[in-house]
Amino acid sequence: MTTDFDPAGLAATDLDPVDPASVDLAGLRRAVRGAVHAPGDPGYPTVGFNVTVVRRPAAVVDATSADDVAATVAFATARGLTVGIFTTGHGGTGVDGGSILVRTAAMDTCVVDPATRTARIGAGVRWQTVLDAAVPHGLAPLCGSAPGVGVVGFLSGGGIGPLVRTVGSSADYVRSITVVTGDGVVRTATAQDNPELFWGLRGGKSTLGLITEVVIELPQITEIYGGAVFFDGAEAAAVLRAWRDWAADLPTEASTSVALVNLPPLPEVPPMLAGRLTVSVRYASVADPATAAAAFAPMRAAAPALLDAVGPMPYAAIGAIHADPAEPMPVVESSGLLAALPDEALDHLVATVNSPVGPLLPGVELRQLGGAYAQDPPVRSALCHRDAAFNLHLVGMVPDEQAVPAVAGAIAAALAGVAPWSTGATLPNFVASDDPARIRRCYDDDTAAWLAALADQFDPKGVLRVGPVMRS
Ligand SMILES: Cc1cc2nc3c(=O)[nH]c(=O)nc-3n(C[C@H](O)[C@H](O)[C@H](O)COP(=O)(O)OP(=O)(O)OC[C@H]3O[C@@H](n4cnc5c(N)ncnc54)[C@H](O)[C@@H]3O)c2cc1C
Repeated sequence: MTTDFDPAGLAATDLDPVDPASVDLAGLRRAVRGAVHAPGDPGYPTVGFNVTVVRRPAAVVDATSADDVAATVAFATARGLTVGIFTTGHGGTGVDGGSILVRTAAMDTCVVDPATRTARIGAGVRWQTVLDAAVPHGLAPLCGSAPGVGVVGFLSGGGIGPLVRTVGSSADYVRSITVVTGDGVVRTATAQDNPELFWGLRGGKSTLGLITEVVIELPQITEIYGGAVFFDGAEAAAVLRAWRDWAADLPTEASTSVALVNLPPLPEVPPMLAGRLTVSVRYASVADPATAAAAFAPMRAAAPALLDAVGPMPYAAIGAIHADPAEPMPVVESSGLLAALPDEALDHLVATVNSPVGPLLPGVELRQLGGAYAQDPPVRSALCHRDAAFNLHLVGMVPDEQAVPAVAGAIAAALAGVAPWSTGATLPNFVASDDPARIRRCYDDDTAAWLAALADQFDPKGVLRVGPVMRS
């Protein structure tokens, strides 16, 4: 389906760009059903998961539908503004007065169809809502590590979850996408309709359009064998070596990651893990419990465990495997894909977390890729670099602005130290940045060229060129 949307009063006569500070929002308020907030309005502040990200757009639109988004794009186009998108702020970047920010929370449809094993999901929905709706039917939304992340933002970046080696990229389970492209048109993209859009929207983030709804497949999984076992940070070098060697022979029915973790002494943190460096080995297997436990046994034996929380678990509890923080926090982060993990690379990461800024790096995480993820998907997407062996993700805590240089420096040094084993690439979901060079590293040359060509076609005026989008 392709529909042209022409919001009243926003056509050719308005085409001259204007100073964002003097944007008259009356026309936008007439064109959309959702609320429009100007700077200073109570509904204007937009703080997401990463509280360091500053958003000061010309206006915030609480879009209620694809038509609201299309009207916003048309309004912005006519005034030389760009349009950004905000769902949860788990991966967002700053927005200034040259943009209008679409907030998606009001597009909250979440309908599970057990007969077709699909879910129709609005752009404002988080994975937890889909889990709550699908699990009672024995169906498993393929979310990431944190159920508080937005479904659409996650899928627009490909999406790798705790079962990544078994199921591949979660974006491979998208059946249909409703999107407002940069030309202000509402389109539906599937493998058959607008296939080039369907390709580029899965992996290309918001480069081609603002997604308003997706339909995804839901595999039948009710129980897995998984969780995390924690070891003392003093054992980090030995545990990381054991993890790498053990993971090399892991069957595709199992996925794993390891993290060097500095958990704060909070009530929800088990006392034996709080205020110290620990190593968390995560595991998720769809094999029967006996087989899955046998496969995990060598890892359990790597060192004395501080806490062993690996065992049969309902799929509903999948967020417990990584136990990512759910509350907003001030972070800086970076990432990179690795081809190999020799001892030198592992030792470098251990040295980083043991350095004076170590306690400010609450998470240094390695996810093993491969398995189904490395296979060609049934319908190709713009998600690249599927042949990488590991994803390295570093999160630094910045309690105040003064901490930023030290923490950012520690993260940069950590990445520099593993550079010999880096593929030079990154995954779009782990680039919460609008730096064109970092975004470019998400794509191989062909994909970057195709995305840029499609952006010229679907966003001819560059209205969506804000945030983590591929720029030509
Ligand atoms: C604690 C934590 C855990 C995470 N775990 C994983 C994980 O396991 N696997 C993984 O792959 N990623 C993971 N991520 C990364 C996450 O998937 C990305 O940051 C994702 O972009 C978040 O989307 P959002 O909508 O929640 O966030 P937002 O910050 O609101 O959006 C981030 C970006 O997503 C895009 N986007 C959002 N909504 C739309 C839309 N409607 N249309 C088009 N583009 C849109 C835009 O480019 C936007 O700038 C994690 C992030 C955090 C902070």
